[in-house]
Amino acid sequence: TKYVLITGGVVSGLGKGVTASSVGVVLKACGLRVTCIKIDPYLNTDAGTMSPFEHGEVFVLDDGGEVDLDLGNYERFIDVTLTRDNNITTGKIYQSVIEKERKGDYLGKTVQVVPHVTDEIKQWIRSVSSVPVDGQTRPADVCVIELGGTVGDIESMPFIEALRQLSFSLGITGKENFCLIHVSLVLALGVVGEQKTKPTQHSVRELRALGLTPDLLACRSAQPLIGSVKEKLSQFCHVPVENILNIHDVPNLWHVPLILRNQKAHEAIIKQLNLAGSAGRPELR
Ligand code: ADP
Repeated sequence: TKYVLITGGVVSGLGKGVTASSVGVVLKACGLRVTCIKIDPYLNTDAGTMSPFEHGEVFVLDDGGEVDLDLGNYERFIDVTLTRDNNITTGKIYQSVIEKERKGDYLGKTVQVVPHVTDEIKQWIRSVSSVPVDGQTRPADVCVIELGGTVGDIESMPFIEALRQLSFSLGITGKENFCLIHVSLVLALGVVGEQKTKPTQHSVRELRALGLTPDLLACRSAQPLIGSVKEKLSQFCHVPVENILNIHDVPNLWHVPLILRNQKAHEAIIKQLNLAGSAGRPELR
């Protein structure tokens, strides 16, 4: 299984969930089998007791798991049946680590965030991504992982570190098995509506400081980005211009997979994951 990680910068509520689901749709349309993991860095073990005013309605899975609404988007967009384990929270990870500690699994070692919590996260991701969710028996080709919150949050640090280690262990710098899409915001300021790239530059820098390098940028904006802004982003964020996607505001969320297809997002991701050699890919059906 190869991994596509979706992170977000600048502000929360940018549409990472919609981006993750839509990436799943275009990859599935290329004939790849897709599964999804949502990481929520909060301490609640699930979304069952959380106020719907803060997070939207809780989504109930077939196995009774009460999870974030994003998993509902994945199920509807990609047509898969997920389990409660596809939603990882800090609470779940710590619960599992503490249970292991009580059982004596760590053999008297000092139990720490690094390596024990980060190892637990990596192991959880690897085991959940190998569970088929589309009714077939083999593991999916690609696992889309969405990291909730924004890069730089204190509570998401163990996840960022675990994902950095995961990408590194998948090969030198993780190329071919790991693709990172960073979702960011391009604001338009003033009467002329000049599109500003600085917040994106800063959030990419923050991501790099934590050891993760974005392969694609998905820029949210009110209006479509103008060409020179894409070039500026490419130069300052060190991302090829064909890997800079623009997801502008749309009246209907089902347009987002079409926006990605029109910008050839599937080709960029498939190239990054070196899946182009496989039979019939990356033809979009
Ligand atoms: P995040 O996962 O980053 O918190 P979500 O995917 O939950 O964000 O999206 C936040 C909100 O933004 C949702 O209400 C969604 O409907 C809306 N949204 C996302 N993408 C777009 C878009 N391209 N155009 C208009 N609204 C969008």
